[in-house]
Amino acid sequence: MDKALHQGFTIWFTGLSGAGKSTISDYLYDELHNRRGLAVEVWDGDVVRTHLSKGLGFSKEDRDINIRRIGFVCAKLTKYGVINIAAAISPYREVRDEVRQMVGPDRFVEVFVDASLDTVMARDVKGLYQKALRGEIKGFTGVDDPYEAPLSPEVVVDTANETVAESAGKILAYCENAGLLPKA
Ligand code: ADP
Repeated sequence: MDKALHQGFTIWFTGLSGAGKSTISDYLYDELHNRRGLAVEVWDGDVVRTHLSKGLGFSKEDRDINIRRIGFVCAKLTKYGVINIAAAISPYREVRDEVRQMVGPDRFVEVFVDASLDTVMARDVKGLYQKALRGEIKGFTGVDDPYEAPLSPEVVVDTANETVAESAGKILAYCENAGLLPKA
Protein backbone atom coordinates (compact mmCIF):
# COMPACT_ATOMS: atom_id res chain seq x y z
CA MET A 1 0.00 0.00 0.00
CA ASP A 2 1.35 3.42 -0.94
CA LYS A 3 2.01 5.90 1.82
CA ALA A 4 0.11 9.13 1.28
CA LEU A 5 1.73 12.24 2.70
CA HIS A 6 -0.32 14.37 5.08
CA GLN A 7 -0.53 16.91 2.27
CA GLY A 8 0.45 16.22 -1.31
CA PHE A 9 2.04 18.52 -3.81
CA THR A 10 2.49 18.93 -7.56
CA ILE A 11 5.74 19.04 -9.49
CA TRP A 12 4.92 20.85 -12.73
CA PHE A 13 7.44 20.48 -15.54
CA THR A 14 7.50 22.90 -18.43
CA GLY A 15 9.89 22.90 -21.38
CA LEU A 16 10.30 22.19 -25.07
CA SER A 17 9.63 18.77 -26.54
CA GLY A 18 12.75 16.69 -25.93
CA ALA A 19 13.96 18.89 -23.07
CA GLY A 20 13.80 15.99 -20.59
CA LYS A 21 10.42 16.22 -18.83
CA SER A 22 9.46 12.54 -19.26
CA THR A 23 12.93 11.26 -18.46
CA ILE A 24 13.17 13.18 -15.19
CA SER A 25 9.56 12.22 -14.32
CA ASP A 26 10.42 8.54 -14.71
CA TYR A 27 13.44 8.99 -12.48
CA LEU A 28 11.40 10.79 -9.81
CA TYR A 29 8.65 8.15 -9.96
CA ASP A 30 11.22 5.44 -9.40
CA GLU A 31 12.74 7.29 -6.46
CA LEU A 32 9.54 8.45 -4.77
CA HIS A 33 7.25 5.50 -5.47
CA ASN A 34 9.47 2.44 -5.92
CA ARG A 35 12.12 3.38 -3.35
CA ARG A 36 10.30 5.55 -0.82
CA GLY A 37 6.87 3.89 -1.20
CA LEU A 38 4.97 7.17 -1.63
CA ALA A 39 1.74 7.67 -3.58
CA VAL A 40 2.80 9.27 -6.87
CA GLU A 41 0.88 9.88 -10.08
CA VAL A 42 2.57 10.97 -13.31
CA TRP A 43 0.59 13.03 -15.82
CA ASP A 44 2.64 12.72 -18.98
CA GLY A 45 1.52 15.03 -21.79
CA ASP A 46 1.61 12.34 -24.46
CA VAL A 47 -0.35 9.85 -22.32
CA VAL A 48 -2.90 12.45 -21.20
CA ARG A 49 -3.61 13.30 -24.83
CA THR A 50 -4.56 9.68 -25.57
CA HIS A 51 -7.05 9.51 -22.65
CA LEU A 52 -8.10 12.55 -20.62
CA SER A 53 -7.64 14.96 -23.54
CA LYS A 54 -8.28 12.72 -26.55
CA GLY A 55 -9.53 14.82 -29.45
CA LEU A 56 -7.85 18.06 -28.42
CA GLY A 57 -5.47 19.64 -30.91
CA PHE A 58 -2.59 22.08 -30.63
CA SER A 59 -4.26 25.47 -31.04
CA LYS A 60 -3.69 27.83 -28.12
CA GLU A 61 -7.23 27.19 -26.95
CA ASP A 62 -6.88 23.39 -27.02
CA ARG A 63 -3.45 23.51 -25.40
CA ASP A 64 -4.88 25.63 -22.58
CA ILE A 65 -7.83 23.23 -22.08
CA ASN A 66 -5.38 20.32 -21.90
CA ILE A 67 -3.30 22.08 -19.24
CA ARG A 68 -6.39 23.05 -17.21
CA ARG A 69 -7.53 19.41 -17.21
CA ILE A 70 -4.18 18.20 -15.94
CA GLY A 71 -4.22 20.99 -13.37
CA PHE A 72 -7.70 20.00 -12.23
CA VAL A 73 -6.75 16.41 -11.44
CA CYS A 74 -3.47 17.49 -9.83
CA ALA A 75 -5.39 19.89 -7.59
CA LYS A 76 -7.84 17.17 -6.50
CA LEU A 77 -5.18 14.57 -5.74
CA THR A 78 -2.85 17.06 -4.07
CA LYS A 79 -5.56 17.52 -1.41
CA TYR A 80 -5.38 13.81 -0.58
CA GLY A 81 -1.68 13.45 -0.08
CA VAL A 82 -0.64 12.34 -3.54
CA ILE A 83 2.52 13.61 -5.22
CA ASN A 84 1.59 14.62 -8.78
CA ILE A 85 4.19 14.94 -11.49
CA ALA A 86 2.93 16.77 -14.58
CA ALA A 87 5.10 16.51 -17.69
CA ALA A 88 3.55 18.46 -20.55
CA ILE A 89 5.16 21.21 -22.64
CA SER A 90 2.69 23.75 -21.16
CA PRO A 91 4.01 26.57 -23.32
CA TYR A 92 1.79 29.39 -22.03
CA ARG A 93 2.68 31.26 -18.86
CA GLU A 94 -0.81 32.50 -18.07
CA VAL A 95 -2.44 29.07 -17.88
CA ARG A 96 0.50 27.70 -15.88
CA ASP A 97 -0.13 30.49 -13.37
CA GLU A 98 -3.81 29.59 -13.35
CA VAL A 99 -2.94 25.98 -12.53
CA ARG A 100 -0.60 27.16 -9.76
CA GLN A 101 -3.59 28.87 -8.14
CA MET A 102 -5.81 25.80 -8.60
CA VAL A 103 -3.31 23.52 -6.87
CA GLY A 104 -2.36 26.12 -4.25
CA PRO A 105 0.83 28.16 -4.64
CA ASP A 106 2.44 26.62 -1.55
CA ARG A 107 1.94 23.10 -2.97
CA PHE A 108 3.12 23.84 -6.49
CA VAL A 109 6.67 23.35 -7.70
CA GLU A 110 7.22 24.69 -11.19
CA VAL A 111 10.30 23.18 -12.81
CA PHE A 112 11.70 24.80 -15.93
CA VAL A 113 13.38 22.07 -17.96
CA ASP A 114 15.77 24.36 -19.75
CA ALA A 115 17.35 23.14 -22.97
CA SER A 116 18.03 25.30 -26.00
CA LEU A 117 16.31 24.75 -29.30
CA ASP A 118 19.69 23.63 -30.72
CA THR A 119 19.97 20.99 -28.00
CA VAL A 120 16.48 19.56 -28.41
CA MET A 121 16.78 19.62 -32.21
CA ALA A 122 20.06 17.72 -32.04
CA ARG A 123 18.41 15.15 -29.73
CA ASP A 124 15.21 15.02 -31.79
CA VAL A 125 14.06 12.15 -29.55
CA LYS A 126 10.85 11.52 -31.48
CA GLY A 127 11.93 12.80 -34.92
CA LEU A 128 9.33 15.56 -34.64
CA TYR A 129 11.65 18.55 -35.15
CA GLN A 130 12.74 17.21 -38.53
CA LYS A 131 9.09 16.88 -39.49
CA ALA A 132 8.27 20.36 -38.22
CA LEU A 133 11.21 21.88 -40.11
CA ARG A 134 10.02 20.14 -43.28
CA GLY A 135 6.57 21.63 -42.67
CA GLU A 136 4.95 18.22 -42.14
CA ILE A 137 3.77 19.27 -38.68
CA LYS A 138 2.35 22.74 -38.22
CA GLY A 139 2.27 24.70 -34.97
CA PHE A 140 5.15 22.86 -33.32
CA THR A 141 6.35 24.53 -30.11
CA GLY A 142 9.70 26.24 -30.58
CA VAL A 143 9.59 26.00 -34.38
CA ASP A 144 6.44 27.84 -35.48
CA ASP A 145 4.53 28.06 -32.19
CA PRO A 146 5.45 30.07 -29.08
CA TYR A 147 7.13 28.86 -25.90
CA GLU A 148 6.99 31.19 -22.90
CA ALA A 149 9.67 30.31 -20.37
CA PRO A 150 8.70 30.76 -16.72
CA LEU A 151 9.79 34.02 -15.06
CA SER A 152 10.31 32.68 -11.54
CA PRO A 153 10.12 28.90 -11.45
CA GLU A 154 10.90 27.13 -8.16
CA VAL A 155 13.58 25.02 -9.88
CA VAL A 156 15.53 25.29 -13.14
CA VAL A 157 17.27 22.23 -14.54
CA ASP A 158 19.81 22.56 -17.34
CA THR A 159 19.62 19.22 -19.09
CA ALA A 160 22.37 19.93 -21.63
CA ASN A 161 24.87 20.18 -18.77
CA GLU A 162 23.47 17.93 -16.03
CA THR A 163 22.91 14.20 -15.74
CA VAL A 164 19.35 13.01 -15.17
CA ALA A 165 20.30 12.15 -11.59
CA GLU A 166 21.65 15.68 -11.02
CA SER A 167 18.52 17.32 -12.43
CA ALA A 168 16.24 15.07 -10.37
CA GLY A 169 18.43 15.64 -7.31
CA LYS A 170 17.91 19.41 -7.53
CA ILE A 171 14.14 18.92 -7.58
CA LEU A 172 14.17 16.49 -4.65
CA ALA A 173 16.38 18.84 -2.65
CA TYR A 174 14.02 21.75 -3.30
CA CYS A 175 10.99 19.70 -2.17
CA GLU A 176 12.77 18.52 0.96
CA ASN A 177 14.00 22.00 1.88
CA ALA A 178 10.53 23.47 1.29
CA GLY A 179 9.09 20.95 3.76
CA LEU A 180 6.94 19.27 1.07
CA LEU A 181 8.82 15.97 1.20
CA PRO A 182 10.34 14.21 4.20
CA LYS A 183 14.13 14.02 3.95
CA ALA A 184 15.26 10.67 2.55
P1 ADP B 1 10.36 15.54 -23.06
O1 ADP B 1 9.57 14.65 -22.15
O2 ADP B 1 10.68 16.88 -22.44
O3 ADP B 1 9.77 15.66 -24.43
P2 ADP B 1 12.26 13.35 -23.08
O4 ADP B 1 12.42 13.06 -21.63
O5 ADP B 1 11.36 12.45 -23.88
O6 ADP B 1 11.82 14.89 -23.27
O7 ADP B 1 13.71 13.34 -23.80
C1 ADP B 1 14.84 13.98 -23.23
C2 ADP B 1 16.13 13.37 -23.79
O8 ADP B 1 17.26 14.07 -23.22
C3 ADP B 1 16.32 11.91 -23.44
O9 ADP B 1 16.89 11.25 -24.54
C4 ADP B 1 17.31 11.97 -22.24
O10 ADP B 1 18.07 10.79 -22.13
C5 ADP B 1 18.17 13.17 -22.59
N1 ADP B 1 18.80 13.83 -21.41
C6 ADP B 1 20.11 14.13 -21.27
N2 ADP B 1 20.38 14.72 -20.09
C7 ADP B 1 19.20 14.81 -19.45
C8 ADP B 1 18.83 15.33 -18.16
N3 ADP B 1 19.70 15.91 -17.30
N4 ADP B 1 17.52 15.25 -17.83
C9 ADP B 1 16.63 14.71 -18.69
N5 ADP B 1 16.91 14.21 -19.90
C10 ADP B 1 18.20 14.25 -20.29
